[in-house]
Amino acid sequence: MRLILLGAPGAGKGTQAEFITAKLGIPSISTGNLLRNAMSHGTELGNQVKEAMEGGHLVSDELVLQLVRERISQPDCQKGMIFDGFPRTLAQAEALDKIMKVDMALFIHVDDEVIIKRMGGRRTCPECQTTYHVESHPPKREGICDKCGAKLGVRDDDRPEVVRERLSVYHKQTEPIVNYYKNKGLLRTVEGAGAVEETSARVAEALGVQI
Ligand code: AMP
Repeated sequence: MRLILLGAPGAGKGTQAEFITAKLGIPSISTGNLLRNAMSHGTELGNQVKEAMEGGHLVSDELVLQLVRERISQPDCQKGMIFDGFPRTLAQAEALDKIMKVDMALFIHVDDEVIIKRMGGRRTCPECQTTYHVESHPPKREGICDKCGAKLGVRDDDRPEVVRERLSVYHKQTEPIVNYYKNKGLLRTVEGAGAVEETSARVAEALGVQI
């Protein structure tokens, strides 16, 4: 299955991508994680993206598509994948259509006010990028990643002023993609406010899988 997760930053795409990976056994590909990885390795590409990411703006379509092409050529993507945070522009969506046939675009809808509240409590593992929330999705040990034991932190672009910029970029550049997939008959929408488990149940229903 080739699945796209759509939704504002903080809608819960990463958390639901993990859930779907566990259910369907296909990898999730987060372009945000691919970019942060490139940045942390100090590659030339990483230096180019640093400024855009830190300001909450989008990185160029060409760079993102280059990273996606590299990632999907790896053997674990043969049975499909979940895209988290990609495509984010109409140009990326059109480019993806030329690379593969998308099976479904699942839109996790969450109102902006809920997002802003949520992002304040988000904690991220700097090592493996797993995300938590201090109230709704806490780690087993406070401040420590369940998966790799690293100390959790707040991503630079989760600061309130950057979150507002990311939401505005989302509404301008990414939201039109919802209609793009709707017109193709590929869109499913689930409500993403409320508890993680409730959203996972809706996601499972949309995908036709047992919880
Ligand atoms: P995310 O982890 O998905 O919230 O992404 C964090 C940041 O990475 C975004 O604010 C953008 O600066 C950049 N980014 C991630 N995915 C894309 C994409 N598909 N196109 C352009 N920029 C992206």
